[in-house]
Amino acid sequence: MSLKITIVGCGDAFGSGGRRNTCFHLETESARYFVDFGATALVGVNALGIDTNAVDAIILSHLHGDHFGGIPFLILHAHFVTDRKRPLVIAGPPGLEQRIRAAQEVMFPDSSHIELCFDLVFVELEPGSRSTVCGADIECFEVCHPSGAPPLALRIQAGGRLFAFSGDTEWLDVLPTVAGGADLFMCECYAFDEPIPYHVRYRDLEANLADIGARRIMLNHLGTESLARMADIDPSIEIAEDGMVIDV
Ligand SMILES: [Zn+2]
Repeated sequence: MSLKITIVGCGDAFGSGGRRNTCFHLETESARYFVDFGATALVGVNALGIDTNAVDAIILSHLHGDHFGGIPFLILHAHFVTDRKRPLVIAGPPGLEQRIRAAQEVMFPDSSHIELCFDLVFVELEPGSRSTVCGADIECFEVCHPSGAPPLALRIQAGGRLFAFSGDTEWLDVLPTVAGGADLFMCECYAFDEPIPYHVRYRDLEANLADIGARRIMLNHLGTESLARMADIDPSIEIAEDGMVIDV
């Protein structure tokens, strides 16, 4: 049993520090997933040599462009470039199909009407629900991050390991529950000292560190202040880098 996670992108929405938008590639012995697929994800996927046709499902935390904006590109890439044959499952907050279709139409008019060479399957993940998507057990918690649909923190069990992800959110009391018992808790950390609405501030994470029962804690989505203060982050906490590969 194993879970290999490749950090395709760990940056914020604005490319701070030259980092790509959020996208993680999860690989078990029997399935592969993307968790989030931000606008720059396909660039990262190609830079890292990841085979998109081998990916079974994309699991989305919330519907902001830096977390799902790469999907219109991936759909066309699968149809025109990689000649995908297997179904592609996209799971995420309620309303995801409508938002993805709208994004397709804005970026590539008429592209949502193409008869694709593969099946596109949308699965809605309700806050508070637990479901199985392509062999991964997914538990969803609603967080606080307005994005036109309920934003989710995720506990994803795959390959006998537990990957917990805060998604984007301000600090909430539910986050230690999300992280509890995880082999890796990936937590966004956009802000450091200065609060930024709807995002985790490092000082709040630090104050609650003793309550986070995850084997490893890793930070992603660092804004400019967090990037400048990386040396002040508790040494027990890891910091994601684009291209990093983690055996969880
Ligand atoms: Zn967001």
